[in-house]
Amino acid sequence: MGERRVVVSGASIAGLSVAFWMRRLGWQVTVIERAPAFRDGGQNVDVRGVAREVLDRMGLFEAVRSQNTTETGTVFVDADGRVTAELPSDGPDGATAELEVLRGDLARTIHDHLPPGVDSVHGDTIETVTESAEGLRIVTSAGRQMHCDLLVVAEGVRSATRDRVFVSGEVSRTDLDVTMVFGTIPRTDNDDNQWGRGAPDGPHPDILTDIAAGRRRNLTADRPWADPVLEQLITAATRPEPHTRSYRG
Ligand SMILES: Cc1cc2nc3c(=O)[nH]c(=O)nc-3n(C[C@H](O)[C@H](O)[C@H](O)COP(=O)(O)OP(=O)(O)OC[C@H]3O[C@@H](n4cnc5c(N)ncnc54)[C@H](O)[C@@H]3O)c2cc1C
Repeated sequence: MGERRVVVSGASIAGLSVAFWMRRLGWQVTVIERAPAFRDGGQNVDVRGVAREVLDRMGLFEAVRSQNTTETGTVFVDADGRVTAELPSDGPDGATAELEVLRGDLARTIHDHLPPGVDSVHGDTIETVTESAEGLRIVTSAGRQMHCDLLVVAEGVRSATRDRVFVSGEVSRTDLDVTMVFGTIPRTDNDDNQWGRGAPDGPHPDILTDIAAGRRRNLTADRPWADPVLEQLITAATRPEPHTRSYRG
């Protein structure tokens, strides 16, 4: 039997991890990513449980740990900034996991450690998938034709290919009624290494600030449209006017 081929759609944490393992198992691997280049960015991701085990087996545990955000835990503060509760970082599964890294750093680490021979296509998406006894035939929006034995769709929550290849109703999404907006704002001298979270009775209950290896802090809001002051602040801090609007309602 010839070398088997897998096409992986989506080059983020899941897609790159699949590419890593399938190539190690001897498959021909092509990763196709919608973005024109490797996607950096993103805020804090806590690697816990089985994900730690997977990283360890990939030999990437230390590489990821060395990029730890250095966050030491979470504090809840009242309207005057007084700490009302504290959740310290306490080991692999604490409020702040031992392996807390920026999403982009985690994805980049996997990307940079892919075994030789993984093909990457950027700026393209899968348009059609046809299944036959010989395998799968894929045509992309740029007109590429690919044949493979296996297609792995790792396009995240809003996957267009998943909607295309699964019959309506086979995959369902549940709206949890939680919307979060993330942005990056300059760090100030008053910031420490804890994630400061407004207590429910504070003026802006949904503001969180955070740091990452002294480089920056994040501004996060759940339901930003619920508070006009907060919404203005986020807009000013992150300037994603169109995004802020699209999150509303
Ligand atoms: C830019 C970014 C920032 C994020 N920031 C955070 C964060 O701060 N904290 C957190 O907990 N989680 C964050 N996430 C989500 C987190 O990465 C995922 O929830 C989780 O890690 C699962 O990863 P995933 O690989 O399954 O999907 P995702 O990380 O969502 O990646 C999906 C990938 O597929 C690509 N893609 C989408 N549609 C197509 C298509 N049709 N064809 C080809 N490629 C496609 C996307 O460009 C992306 O690279 C972020 C994701 C992204 C993309």
